[in-house]
Amino acid sequence: MCCATAEPVTERFAPSPTGPLHLGHAFSALTGFDAARAAGGRFLLRIEDIDRARARPEWEAGISEDLAWLGLRWETPVLRQSDRLPAYRDALLGLWRRGLLYSCSCTRRDIEAAASAPQEGAEPVHGPDGLVYPGTCRGRWPGPDTQDSPPEDMALRLSMPEALAALGERAERLGFRELGAGPGGETGEIRVPPRALRDTCGDIVLARRGLGTSYHLSVVLDDAAQGVTHVTRGEDLFGATQIHVLLQALLGLPVPRYRHHRLIRDAAGRRLAKRDDARAIRLYREEGLSPADIRRMTGLPAAP
Ligand code: GLU
Repeated sequence: MCCATAEPVTERFAPSPTGPLHLGHAFSALTGFDAARAAGGRFLLRIEDIDRARARPEWEAGISEDLAWLGLRWETPVLRQSDRLPAYRDALLGLWRRGLLYSCSCTRRDIEAAASAPQEGAEPVHGPDGLVYPGTCRGRWPGPDTQDSPPEDMALRLSMPEALAALGERAERLGFRELGAGPGGETGEIRVPPRALRDTCGDIVLARRGLGTSYHLSVVLDDAAQGVTHVTRGEDLFGATQIHVLLQALLGLPVPRYRHHRLIRDAAGRRLAKRDDARAIRLYREEGLSPADIRRMTGLPAAP
């Protein structure tokens, strides 16, 4: 037996309330919940509502209702990312003062245009965070030498070269433990080479304009603040985990274990998305299906 003093296994499910809970979400939530139960651990729900334009209280209420119907129980109070903006701001301020962030005014169209401009035969690279930023705004706007805190009306990007330099030798030892599998079957100890961060992630956005944060920043800060030890989520986020591990190192946060799981697909093999209302749990409920049916449909064992 190991670690009598170790933290209890703490799993979380972190939906964005921008649509109904569908079969894919139910599979993810149940997988994490079952794992927490099997370990005698804790299970948390976190509402990822930083995108105020898309998040709706009625979706949040519907998601909670569906999860409870599925048999899930979670600790209260539930953490809402919209309540955490001061924590995100503090972390950004720290990174800004360390010279690791810069302001960016580029629109998506600017980035596409700059990335596809012919430059010595280089092809635009798509990574886990989309098109790798071509660096247009690097050094273009006032930085921490003249501005004490970052602007709130522009996006903030992490300078990947500066971030890796700040980590020094630690940058060579980044990695995480995968308890499930990535899309290519990756499992066990996964290394995150600095080259991959530089070439396929690049200068990622840590604060979107007008939001004061980003998915990547919020998720690592919240997992740490909530004491999450195990992150269960879809294999589509396997690539993003490289970014999360880098941010954890920069911010001095623990690295949870990750369990990436297969995605639930529709009959044509496409992964389900929020717009797949036909797979909404609410509709299955209305049709008279039971939580046991949902478990069966997603290939999960019966409730323990
Ligand atoms: N809010 C994210 C989503 O709904 C979850 C991300 C995560 O589990 O890290 O896709």
